[in-house]
Amino acid sequence: MKKESCYCGLNKKFQDCCEPILKGVKNATTAQDLMRSRYSAYATHQADYLVETTHVSQRKHHLKSEILEWAVSNQWQKLEVLHATENTVEFKAYYVDSQFIQHIHHEFSNFVFEKGSWYYVNGEFY
Ligand SMILES: [Zn+2]
Repeated sequence: MKKESCYCGLNKKFQDCCEPILKGVKNATTAQDLMRSRYSAYATHQADYLVETTHVSQRKHHLKSEILEWAVSNQWQKLEVLHATENTVEFKAYYVDSQFIQHIHHEFSNFVFEKGSWYYVNGEFY
């Protein structure tokens, strides 16, 4: 990873981009912000954050132990946001798995804004 850019791909330092959001110092202000911070959470293995930012109605589908396992076993290379609306984000996440096989996770995600925070609801995979 280049030091100048955040894991999420924005041309800002991690400390000035996703880190304050992951630490709860700052709230994600848009669905895209939340999506980017969640990608950075995968890259930095922050399963608690990934659970907390999943909408409560969906948490049973995403066990923390599985999230952590998935985050740790892959190398997160880059994120590409293809399209974003107020409450959806289409993205590609590039990663290499534990067998060193390159993957592209292409997803169209839905988000909801509730009580002042954005949450990931679900996604369609391509
Ligand atoms: Zn970022």
